[in-house]
Amino acid sequence: MLVLNSGSSSVKFQLLEPDSGRSLAEGIVERIGEEASSASLTAGPQALERDDRVADHEAALQMVSSLLDDAGIRLAELDLMAVGHRVVHGGPDLYRPTVVDDALIARLRELSPLAPLHNPPAILGIEVARKAHPDVPHVAVFDTAFFHDLPAAAATYAIDRELAERYDIRRYGFHGTSHQYVSEQAAAFLDVPTASLRQIVLHLGNGASASAIVGGRPVETSMGLTPMEGLVMGTRSGDLDPGIITYLWRAAGMSVEDIESMLNRRSGVRGLGGEVDFRVLHRRIASGDAAAQLAYDVYIHRLRKYIGAYLAVLGGADVITFTAGVGENDATVRRDALSGLGAFGIEVDEHLNESPAAGARRISPDGAPTTVLVIPTDEELAIARACAAVLGDGDGDG
Ligand code: ADP
Repeated sequence: MLVLNSGSSSVKFQLLEPDSGRSLAEGIVERIGEEASSASLTAGPQALERDDRVADHEAALQMVSSLLDDAGIRLAELDLMAVGHRVVHGGPDLYRPTVVDDALIARLRELSPLAPLHNPPAILGIEVARKAHPDVPHVAVFDTAFFHDLPAAAATYAIDRELAERYDIRRYGFHGTSHQYVSEQAAAFLDVPTASLRQIVLHLGNGASASAIVGGRPVETSMGLTPMEGLVMGTRSGDLDPGIITYLWRAAGMSVEDIESMLNRRSGVRGLGGEVDFRVLHRRIASGDAAAQLAYDVYIHRLRKYIGAYLAVLGGADVITFTAGVGENDATVRRDALSGLGAFGIEVDEHLNESPAAGARRISPDGAPTTVLVIPTDEELAIARACAAVLGDGDGDG
């Protein structure tokens, strides 16, 4: 199974066996369409890098094949089962993994206004991949899927009802593939059924989101109509007073596109501290950089507010799990997110938290009422398995 995650200027890919979970190769083509592109692939012990210019998404896919060739993996000779595509927004009606056909692409185009930054590149990725691999099924897996049945009280914005219905305005939630996968892994790690658990999952990568899950079903999540709501992220603001948007429009004369770009690309940790990478942010804080410190403090404050809110939504949590780039690797963020919550049964063991382990692990002390876990997310594997399941169904639409 080839899994593709096509963004506006990058394509992430992974070739893997869904049953065993074995990854044959993975990599990324970045800065598509820019002067200096880059591409990298790892396959077992091999690590390949290329810096040829990649003009567009079609060229990006050719680059993927060429990198795989160089690693001795010939896509044409593999018994490729399907190509799975991550699609960010499924809108109100697309949530099951769906075999791609022309009608699906037309529907995705109609949904593009809901996700103008994310869906158009995903559609492009699907189209070029269908051309390159016309003989295998392509399956779209939606980032919104897991949250499709969010309770109405959590999914509804308190705005004019008629307008909201006409324009499909609701809280959709994103990173669903990751929240579902990680919450299932957490239950497996504890060797209990998901049905018995109240969970909080903190997906902290460049994009960041939190979810509250009861019995395997999400009851809250921090992202909304778009992936901009909620936590402070690498470059996105997360929650803000909607009045800021109208104020900037009136007072600063900014266009809708200017405001959208500022909130998506020049906000969050980068907007405050000039840097998205938490490793660099910590170094700058250590050297006394006040802007980096403020960025970190705002990030942690928002995260703690959400944890507190979700404890109230759930009536307490059995498990809190950290995942994604920051969540899996940054012990300081994990410590600060949960410090001082002993009264709620939440504790982090300093030694377990800081030990440089990889893989799923517990970082709360033995016997603590709330188990705190670190679990590596694997969206590609989850997408591959969702594809395999829909193709195994035989009816093609899940
Ligand atoms: P994406 O949302 O792009 O998939 P990831 O989940 O890969 O993001 O997270 C990327 C982020 O993870 C980086 O920007 C960086 O801030 C953080 N990160 C990665 N490795 C580490 C580390 N060892 N320590 C702290 N933060 C890290």
